Amino acid sequence: MPATHTYLDHNATSPLRPAAFDAMVGALQAGGNPSSVHRAGRGARAIVDHARRQVAALVGALPAEVVFTSGGTEANNSALSGAGRRRVLVSAVEHDSVLKAANGMEIVPVQGNGVIDLGVLQESLAASPEPALVSVMFANNETGVLQPIADVVRVARATGALVHCDAVQGAGKVSVDLHGLGVDYLSLSAHKFGGPAGVGALIVRSGAPFLPDRLGGGQETNRRAGTENVAGIAGFGAAAAAVGNGLATREWRDRLEARLLEIAPAARIHGASADRLPNTTCISMPGVGAETQVMALDLAGICVSAGAACSSGKVTRSAVLLAMGVEPGEAETALRISFGWNSSFDDIERLIAEWRDLYIRVGHSDIDHARAA
Ligand code: PLP
Repeated sequence: MPATHTYLDHNATSPLRPAAFDAMVGALQAGGNPSSVHRAGRGARAIVDHARRQVAALVGALPAEVVFTSGGTEANNSALSGAGRRRVLVSAVEHDSVLKAANGMEIVPVQGNGVIDLGVLQESLAASPEPALVSVMFANNETGVLQPIADVVRVARATGALVHCDAVQGAGKVSVDLHGLGVDYLSLSAHKFGGPAGVGALIVRSGAPFLPDRLGGGQETNRRAGTENVAGIAGFGAAAAAVGNGLATREWRDRLEARLLEIAPAARIHGASADRLPNTTCISMPGVGAETQVMALDLAGICVSAGAACSSGKVTRSAVLLAMGVEPGEAETALRISFGWNSSFDDIERLIAEWRDLYIRVGHSDIDHARAA
């Protein structure tokens, strides 16, 4: 990432942490296939086992509960199929890697602040005796809104449902504890907190049913076949160990939001009344399309994102905001600002200044210049 850029898009991907880089280089130099019995193989196995302990420690799991995958998407896909439940209920604000992973899933609505409607979840579960899987994310990638996972588990357990939680955006930013939450399956992705892209994990609680969707050489104790991505796994483990207590950036986020609302009192922070990640702000600038904002800020050297980053690079209207009842016109003006392990408050100050300039440039000359200066 060139130093000339101010990178405030950590929810899309977070820059590689130096510890992860070093661990990956070490693993690449060491070589070896963890399944080989000779010394090179044993060396590679030791690297994978070490990383497994580091990843397990990040979420309070046992090392044996960690199944390495190619990322969060695969972890979500394999949780939904691997639980073996035909009836699947998911919240309306899940990532596409959950929403597109099962046919005929039942969608549970969220309230205006983005938090799942537990009453509807309870009623839906009670409406059929068929054993279900409930999948609810830990934190939303666009708004940062945290879901009440322990309550979801309580409601689900009352009907014998299994619970999957996509913790891709929560892990590494705030504390996530598999056993404290009581979920059966938990998805993680290394690149959201400073590990490499293309590696993640599905944590399968010991005793939870799991049917593998990849068959072959029996790796990951028969839960995910395929030679391990040793360097990626090493980087994942090192990033997990480097996370410490997560991001202590809540005060920055609150100052950022207060400043933006001073500049544009009609702007709206989506999910503001809910508990949210300390690194994420999703804000609508009145009357200015998100695409225009992203491009203008990019020209000023600031990387942020409009809603979800799509693989095509195209900006589409946010399904998350629509599910929260935001009007389509307003949803099109929503910008996502997300900071991370290498951000500074200077980065945020720069964003505030450019956002303000853009707001004035596009015709909001009515702003209170004294207060917004
Ligand atoms: N789940 C959430 C909430 C995400 O934000 C993402 C990535 O944006 C994923 C899953 C997919 O993770 P990956 O990029 O590792 O496949």
